[in-house]
Amino acid sequence: MSSTPHLLDRLATLTSIRDLELLEFSLLKTVHELFRPEQATMIKYDGSGEVKFTMRYGHDGCHESLKTKKEQPELLSAIRMMRRINAPYHSRLANGNNLSAFPILDFQSLSVCLILESRRPGASNDIKLIQGLLQIYRNFCHLIEDAQRDQLTGLLNRKTFDESIQRVIGMSSSLNTTFQIQQDDRRTHEEAGSCYWLGLIDIDNFKRINDTLGHIYGDEVLLLMSQVMRDSFRESDLLFRFGGEEFVVVTENLDIEGAKTAFERFRLKVDQFDFPQVGQVTISLGAVKVTSADVVHAVLDKADKALYYAKQNGKNIVCFYDELVNQGLIESTQFTLNQDIELF
Ligand code: GH3
Ligand code: MG
Ligand code: MG
Repeated sequence: MSSTPHLLDRLATLTSIRDLELLEFSLLKTVHELFRPEQATMIKYDGSGEVKFTMRYGHDGCHESLKTKKEQPELLSAIRMMRRINAPYHSRLANGNNLSAFPILDFQSLSVCLILESRRPGASNDIKLIQGLLQIYRNFCHLIEDAQRDQLTGLLNRKTFDESIQRVIGMSSSLNTTFQIQQDDRRTHEEAGSCYWLGLIDIDNFKRINDTLGHIYGDEVLLLMSQVMRDSFRESDLLFRFGGEEFVVVTENLDIEGAKTAFERFRLKVDQFDFPQVGQVTISLGAVKVTSADVVHAVLDKADKALYYAKQNGKNIVCFYDELVNQGLIESTQFTLNQDIELF
């Protein structure tokens, strides 16, 4: 088979990539180079079949779109059929081209499929090769996914936090303080970019649980805590086990009121949750707005200061760094890019 050395070459490249988004792009490019379809499209859709993301690779290169424009009805019905039979589905388009839909992955909230549009119907050998390639891709995604998660809770791990927080900072709005946010009208705010809020969560008096009931009960509290987090926050929010009994949430909200509602709802859910044998467990949360001017250690340091204040002031509360500074309750810290810390 003449394409084998090329295929192995592409596989070597594919499996050397650790970034899932780059891996998706590389898979499309590989499929396009090997099988020369008119278009190779990767589509992500949710449980109800609604398309959330499309990446397309054609003769003119790659196009991607978030929450795409309306997809072709033929493409949507091919996805529906593929989901129904849970296997590759082949059909023919009105323009005479052939359409093949291959299921790729099913995550909790999102499924991924590959759609090929070709002039010629796929030869059975090609279809087998594509399925083999997708199986390798699938296995590799699961390995990457495993490496990104904490074993006990299944939340994203500290290493993943370190890798993704820089991206969150890059996607954040440049507005800096709560005061500015409240002054801006909604439109200019939206135009300025997304607003992300980071919550650093620490379980109150967790050592006591370990000391009185033992580590197994402590671990069970950590596991249940992660479930309460999943129930409380949106699917699009990033949930991390930061280490030990500390967790981090990164949530997108328009303003401080939205962030407050989200964090406060979580605090209350934990407060009211009945942990088997242990009973009531509470958390303290230090929150901060992430801005594009931030450096990673500054975001964490501000959240940590707010958390420390919460711990010193009765625990089982949510404190926002900017509010504490504005109220004169803590000192503001100025960070510069060379990581020096200057006190105002
Ligand atoms: P505070 O309210 O001030 O946060 O008090 P605390 O007792 O929660 O804080 P402290 O930092 O003194 O204790 C945290 C404890 O968490 C200490 C450590 O034994 C425990 N711990 C850390 N990781 C794990 C884990 O994976 N499993 C269990 N069971 N315990 C852990
Ligand atoms: Mg702690
Ligand atoms: Mg603690």
